[in-house]
Amino acid sequence: MSKPMPITEFLKLFPNDDACLAYLFSVRYGDEFECPKCGEEGLFKKLSNMPAYTCSCGHHVHPMVGTPFYNSHTPLQKWFYAMYLFTTTRHGVPAKELQRQLSVNYKTAWRIGHKIREYLALVDGDPPIGGHTEIDETMIGGVREGTGKRGRAAEGKTFVLGMVERGGDIITRIIPDVKRTTLERHIIRHVDRDATISTDELNSYKRLKLYGYKHASVNHKAEEFVRGEHHTNTIEGFWSIIKRSIRGTHVHVSARHLPKYLGEFEYRWNLRHRPDQMFPYLLRRLATSQSKA
Ligand SMILES: [Zn+2]
Repeated sequence: MSKPMPITEFLKLFPNDDACLAYLFSVRYGDEFECPKCGEEGLFKKLSNMPAYTCSCGHHVHPMVGTPFYNSHTPLQKWFYAMYLFTTTRHGVPAKELQRQLSVNYKTAWRIGHKIREYLALVDGDPPIGGHTEIDETMIGGVREGTGKRGRAAEGKTFVLGMVERGGDIITRIIPDVKRTTLERHIIRHVDRDATISTDELNSYKRLKLYGYKHASVNHKAEEFVRGEHHTNTIEGFWSIIKRSIRGTHVHVSARHLPKYLGEFEYRWNLRHRPDQMFPYLLRRLATSQSKA
């Protein structure tokens, strides 16, 4: 299995802002970029006084234009390092830590963190999952210690539906309630009809067989956690990573920001067998995708 990029490697590849800009140039335009003005290939040189390249004909190219790096006062290498941190952690990067590691003020750290999360959470079409899929619903966020309310009525919490293919990808969705029609709509959309599905005993899952799924549930209330091949340990493992991280590092996550956090943890989960790809893939997103916000 591949390993995440060690910090020594990161510093060798990106020792300064110019090296980062050169990488951005090659990601966006390739190494054999044809000058749009004179048509010559590969003659671009870095300008010494600004973050741009120039062709021998005098045409300028600005690799940061159209990316979140453009118009940011934070140097490019700090952005790269922030992305590096997000793709080498298991539990996320709170703004306080970004502030310390990047030597920027809190507001800047907060903004950079949320911008990176926004790109981590970009939905890449979410190809359907199948095989043996575990489905579970949970509540995340909101409640501060000591408000007393627990369970489904807890205030400020948001319902989240999680669907994970064993050995494969995870898809999460924020849902308004856990009614049968709500859950079925998402399941039918994202899970192949020939999949085997494991859930808990919640009534809302009871009709899945009608849609062609092979479905069985374990009865958690009766302390039954495994029935043959059926259990929901994988999806519960995901919930516990994200809940522990939010509790431990992100003091409070509002419903407005929750989709970004979910997307962040989904990103790391779906690339967990290819940790060496997490950083370059994220960098490519910031360099080339339009964010949805
Ligand atoms: Zn040219």
